[in-house]
Parts: sequence; structure tokens; C-alpha cells
Amino acid sequence: MTNVIIIGGGIAGVSAAAAIAVDASVTVLEAEDALAYHASGRSAAMFLKAYGNQTVRALNEASEDAYLAANVLSPRGMMLLGKADEADDFETERISFGMERVSIADAQQVLPIVNATTCAFAGFLATAQDLDTDLLLQTYRKTALAAGTEFVTGARVDAIKKSGSRWTVQAAEQSWSADIIVNAAGAWADEIATLAGLTPLGIQPYRRSIARVPAPGDHDVRDWPFVDGVNEAWYAKPDAGKWLISPADEDPLTPQDAWAEDMVLAEGIARYQEMVTTEVTRVETTWAGLRSFAPDRALVIGPDESDPTFVWLAGQGGYGFQTAQAASQLCADSVLVRAPELDAKTIAALSPARFA
Ligand SMILES: Cc1cc2nc3c(=O)[nH]c(=O)nc-3n(C[C@H](O)[C@H](O)[C@H](O)COP(=O)(O)OP(=O)(O)OC[C@H]3O[C@@H](n4cnc5c(N)ncnc54)[C@H](O)[C@@H]3O)c2cc1C
Repeated sequence: MTNVIIIGGGIAGVSAAAAIAVDASVTVLEAEDALAYHASGRSAAMFLKAYGNQTVRALNEASEDAYLAANVLSPRGMMLLGKADEADDFETERISFGMERVSIADAQQVLPIVNATTCAFAGFLATAQDLDTDLLLQTYRKTALAAGTEFVTGARVDAIKKSGSRWTVQAAEQSWSADIIVNAAGAWADEIATLAGLTPLGIQPYRRSIARVPAPGDHDVRDWPFVDGVNEAWYAKPDAGKWLISPADEDPLTPQDAWAEDMVLAEGIARYQEMVTTEVTRVETTWAGLRSFAPDRALVIGPDESDPTFVWLAGQGGYGFQTAQAASQLCADSVLVRAPELDAKTIAALSPARFA
């Protein structure tokens, strides 16, 4: 049986383990003491089918049925709010998301804090969904475990060597050998390629921050939609009776355990506050995570150009959960040398070969 080592225990690595372990012996090596400690533990938990470029959207689309079957989606709705001087950008974004145009008065029916003096345009998409990220990760983990996957946490890979057709992967004093490596190391994907003696692809991590605040005006926010400023100037959504606000920041950082900066949050909250009638008087908690993108903002999935036994599953950006099902299947197709279900154009647009 083929031996596969997956480096990274976020949603990418865990979903890949579930998909690959049906036909191979899989070990997942995760540097931290728990799975999903980095980006996968810090997301906004949305499934927005029209979010991302065409290649990303193809993965969103191809993932949806499995998520419905796994019961990880629930209705949320999405509202787009624009100012008077954002007419063109509002319209472009509204159409791109497939939203209907609604009056400000109608928007206030759904989201009572919409500020009629500053909001000139509103769009609404009823089909936007919440994605239960914990449940999805646990579902993949259980599937992987049932198929014999070994998860090793606290295993920070620090050396990768190839001798003949076998890889040896080391983490401190321990080592494992494998026929195939899957690089699911998130923000560290390029570092893992470099350790393996391969060419990095330019995967760049960008910080994205979130503040959790009390429900605005003590409203019951449970049924409020995900709300977005034009050009992703900020977004907000309900979270277990509280309200999340993100400045939708994109500051490039080196791979690290990211945290939110007060100034970035304050500026984002100010942009949000301009569009609503309630003031943020208290921030309860904050966090940040890294969204790691390839230069063209599509994921990177498939065999490395110079060594096909090193398979990339990286560049998930802001779409790692909503694409995980189709992305992990395509990764498994590469590892297990199976005919893929995705169309050839999408596969080419995801392939590491596009950077050659
Ligand atoms: C604020 C925020 C909001 C988001 N909202 C959404 C959303 O609504 N919907 C959505 O689909 N996506 C969203 N995302 C994006 C999503 O969270 C990511 O795309 C996804 O979590 C990436 O998963 P991953 O497994 O590739 O990376 P990670 O979760 O970062 O996992 C990579 C793992 O590799 C491990 N690793 C690295 N180097 C080594 C090594 N040397 N040895 C062993 N292990 C190593 C790391 O410790 C890490 O656990 C959001 C992200 C952020 C930050």
C-alpha cells in the first residue's frame, strides 16, 4: 500500500487524509499540539458560492452537495451595503454575487441597524450559508481515523530528504518515510517545498482579523445576515448571540501565529460603524489568522512539476473551508492516480504546473 505523509493538520490536511486514506496508508504530521490551530481555527465560517475567482467558484460549486449531505450548511443570507459614491463598485459586486437589489427600508427589515443616511445601496442574497467548520473538520477527521489514518500532533517537520523513491520526513527526533508527501502546510507551504529541495510557488500569507462585540443595541442577532461593505471594506456576522466585525484586512506577513492589531481593528470598525446606527462600545475578544494565496488567487492542487511524488494542496486563501471537499478529492485523485471528476480547465488552473 502506498505510504502518504500529509504535512499540516488544518482543514486541508484533515480533508485530504479522509479522501486519501480509503486507498493508502496515511500519516498526518501537525506542528502544533492540536489540529486546526492556525487559519482553520480562526475563520468566519461562511459558504459563499460566488466568492473567489472562477476557479475557486468551481471548487465551491463542486463541494456543496457533500456539505449538504454532511449537514454542515445552514441559511444565513448576505447583505451588501454601499455608499452614494460607490454606485459602480456596488453594482459590479452585487451582480457578481448574484444578489437582488433591495431598498434601504427593506434592508432595515432584515438588519435594523442599517443607517439610512449613509447607506445609499443595498443588495441581498438569501442563499448565502453558514458553514459549521468544527463539524466539517471532525467529520473528515473521523472518516480519516476510521480508514486507519494516524494523526501526529506536536510534530513540526524540520527536515525532508529523498533517497531513491522514498521520502524521509523528520520532526525533531522522530522520522517517517513515505512514497508521497502532501504539502498542506497553509502559510508554511513554500517553506515545506524549500525543505524538500523544491521550488517555492510564491504562496503569500495575509493577515485577516476579527473582533467579537456584544450584539448591537442588545438586538437578537441570530437571524441577521452576513453583511459586507463594498470592495470588502469590512464585514460583520452573528456568532452565538454576539456580533463579529472584520476590517477585512489583507496585510502581507511571514508565516506566523498571527494576532489582531488594535489600530487595524479600530479602522475597520470605524468603516463598519459609518454604515450602521449603533456604536461599538466594547470589544470582547479579537483574533487574526493568515489567508495564504498563490499569486493568481486560485488554490494550488496537484503534483509538483519537478517531482510528482510531492503533491501540493495549498493557497486556500479565504476559501479553505468552502472548497475543502472538492480540493481534497482532487488532491486524492493526484495521489491515488485516479481519473478526476473536475473538468480539465479547472484542473489546469489549479495545477502547480501553471507557474512553470
Ligand atoms: C479571519 C478569517 C476568516 C476566514 N473566513 C473563511 C470563510 O468564511 N470561509 C472559508 O471557506 N474560509 C475562510 N477563511 C480561510 C480558511 O480559514 C483557510 O483557507 C483554511 O483554514 C486554510 O486551511 P489550511 O489547512 O490550508 O491551513 P491551516 O489551517 O493554517 O493549516 C496548516 C497547518 O500546517 C501546519 N504546519 C505548518 N508547518 C508545518 C511543519 N513544518 N510541520 C508540521 N505542520 C506544519 C500548521 O501548524 C497548520 O496547522 C478565513 C480565514 C481567516 C483567517
